[in-house]
Amino acid sequence: MAATAITGVRVFDGAGLRGPETVVIRDGLIAAGPAPDGAEVVDGAGGALLPGLIDTHVHVSSEEHLRACAAAGVSTVLDMAAPHFEATMALKGRPGLPSLLSAGRPASGPGSMFVTTMGFPASTAVTGPGDAERFVADRVADGSDYVKIIVEDPRIPKARPLAADTVAAVVAAAHAAGLRTVAHVVSAGTLHLAVAAGVDVVTHTALTSGLDAQTQRLLADRPVAIIPTLAMMDGVARNIGGKPAMRALSLVLPALRMRYRHAEATVASFRAAGRAVLAGTDANDDPRTPFQPRHGEALHDELRRLVRAGLTPAEALRGATSLAAATFGLADRGVIEPGRRADLVLVAGDPTRDIAATRAIRGVWIGGLRCSS
Ligand SMILES: [Zn+2]
Repeated sequence: MAATAITGVRVFDGAGLRGPETVVIRDGLIAAGPAPDGAEVVDGAGGALLPGLIDTHVHVSSEEHLRACAAAGVSTVLDMAAPHFEATMALKGRPGLPSLLSAGRPASGPGSMFVTTMGFPASTAVTGPGDAERFVADRVADGSDYVKIIVEDPRIPKARPLAADTVAAVVAAAHAAGLRTVAHVVSAGTLHLAVAAGVDVVTHTALTSGLDAQTQRLLADRPVAIIPTLAMMDGVARNIGGKPAMRALSLVLPALRMRYRHAEATVASFRAAGRAVLAGTDANDDPRTPFQPRHGEALHDELRRLVRAGLTPAEALRGATSLAAATFGLADRGVIEPGRRADLVLVAGDPTRDIAATRAIRGVWIGGLRCSS
């Protein structure tokens, strides 16, 4: 593979922009300079070079989904439950397309909507703490990259939530198998339960309240990251919270009234506790979900929302690059330095000052291959 030299470019270093300098791509990796003779030269003047963006919460089932991510500068996607399991797993390891990792099939309670209507096999229901090792062994056999656990809100009609001791047993079994755990949470109570059970990452946010002081203290103790999926929470508040049945229910039970500001408050609580806040969109095209963020472009909206929720632009960018990679153990990416994967996005302007600049894409490289847009 011929080398590439991106010249005169300012480089995101996790805090701000350094340079201008020349960044060399060779054999799919970022290489130490100078540029070798014959390298293709890309003029990076006036631009900023970011590590390829990592969308930490997607649902992908087609090559089109991955192409849309690539076009938006997203070079790694973390699938967070694959109802079309074979189609999703077949998309792993395609050169020139975003790297795909997947939870495969998530843990839920017996009789939950995830096994009754969302298309997951009944065997993914965990019947109790004693069933946790079996569930995790099945995921290891499936090739899951991490374990997703659905923690449902017991206040919601027809919910079939996993009990706290079952969640803790799945976490312990996953950790024993060397897998990280990601919990789907939908309220302050379910978030507290998941963090207390020892999960590594929670995804989504509280929506009917903020986090209480007890949960805030727990966050100070536990190194848990959050993928808030703010665009999805906004969609849930609008599309589920606004449905006649939920509106009627929230009149009887005001505690069930959903407000987007509680999602932003959840982000602020994690930030105040010094915890990693990661960028994830919940991009999907399943009409059964409350909202369908679009693959790729939704990550730019998520970055904007994270900044509006109180992160600095550099913090939001770390949540889509270095922090995302570190949280999921992806030591080969997320930072621009020699030896890392040449997953790179060249944008116009300075996204550490104006996060909207991430949309002004001038070039995308995945594993050193330039993506045509
Ligand atoms: Zn999701």
